Amino acid sequence: MARNEDLGAIVSIGDELVIGQSLDTNSRWLSERLTDHGITISEHVTVPDELGAIVSTLRRLVDRSGVVIATGGLGPTADDLTREAISVLVHEPLIEDQESLSLIRGWFSRSNRAMPEQNRVQALRPSSGIHIQNDNGTAPGMHVVVGGANLFCLPGPPSEMKPMFEEYVGARLTRSRERVVRTAIFQTMGLGESEIAQRLGSLMARDRVPLVGTTASGGIVSVRVRYEGIEPRERVDALMGETEREIRAAVGEAVFADGPEPLAAIVIGRLRQNGQRLSVVESCTGGMLGETLTAIPGASDVFLGGWLTYSNEMKERLVGVPSELLQRHGAVSREVAEAMACGGLTRSGADHCLSVTGIAGPGGGSPGKPTGTVWIGLASRSVTSDCRRFLMRGERHVVRQWSVTSALAMLDLRLRNRSSLGLLRQQDP
Ligand code: ATP
Repeated sequence: MARNEDLGAIVSIGDELVIGQSLDTNSRWLSERLTDHGITISEHVTVPDELGAIVSTLRRLVDRSGVVIATGGLGPTADDLTREAISVLVHEPLIEDQESLSLIRGWFSRSNRAMPEQNRVQALRPSSGIHIQNDNGTAPGMHVVVGGANLFCLPGPPSEMKPMFEEYVGARLTRSRERVVRTAIFQTMGLGESEIAQRLGSLMARDRVPLVGTTASGGIVSVRVRYEGIEPRERVDALMGETEREIRAAVGEAVFADGPEPLAAIVIGRLRQNGQRLSVVESCTGGMLGETLTAIPGASDVFLGGWLTYSNEMKERLVGVPSELLQRHGAVSREVAEAMACGGLTRSGADHCLSVTGIAGPGGGSPGKPTGTVWIGLASRSVTSDCRRFLMRGERHVVRQWSVTSALAMLDLRLRNRSSLGLLRQQDP
């Protein structure tokens, strides 16, 4: 197969990744960076610490791609085989790089230690290879050109790999001047992924230009538009604009954001703009809503805090839910969700208070209130409170995640004076 210079591939090396002990986050990060550089990622491959597997994978990938990035296997131990694999791949013996050796020695001497003899192997490279300096660890990276393809090998730890990519690899990725890469993202809520796909119809054809795809995560379905090619920029702008109009015509009622910004950040931005503050009262989400909000830098401008009222006792004691309501309607009910939100609103002095109470499962459901039933309340100053019942399907963590997303979406609707977003409507109990 002929090599395509605009194609890239990512290889993650390590037994711990193959057996599922560690999560491969490097591929995701590298894909985003390479895509930014106009490179089309054709594959992510994860291989164990086995010389044969590493060599054959790299050989296959350098034959078809212009850029291959491998991470891991550059440590000093016997299972770190990337150096040896490159030596086999380029048919060159490994030589000791004196500059790298003194940098590794320097790394140890800065912490008043002598370099263990075992680390010496990290100074090895094939004669035609170039070492990539690592300022955050002992393993230098490697850059070799194999039959016209650029192969970059970087250490596995993300804290070492990322700066080495930014400083060395990124600077060497040349984008062909005519090549244009454009992406657009529309986040939707309230419609399932298959319904979105059905409404988009032929827009999602795999041979369409630009390409339209969807991704579902945590109750949000993102519609992605991507153009990669060499048509004139004005023509690309027109194609992107036309596609956006068609997407809005098909699923516009469910779109809550243009771009990839998380819903929590969008809500925080709107609250900040309005000069308003938020508190929360959580039951089945056990703090996830507060965690999601506080994960956004600058949340403290608008987020006051909240209560984690998992038991009935705490619902009564901390936010004043009347025990009579709990007894008559149960903790998962419109009445209790409303009392939680109103209790939180008055006690916090915020402008809005969200409450969540539900049955996350797997047990605890009943015919009247099946597992996955979640009531979300939103109390706001001088506006009637909004309580909605959701029936979420999925495992415990999915129900909890969707509850957080739905609560944020309800607040987002209120902040925009909209009452519904796709199917995010009251489901009658
Ligand atoms: P070191 O010099 O630290 O030994 P290395 O290049 O040999 O670097 P590995 O030993 O393969 O790297 O991995 C070291 C650690 O880096 C792993 O335990 C893991 O925590 C992290 N790591 C490796 N590969 C990945 C990856 N693909 N995604 C995220 N983390 C990774």
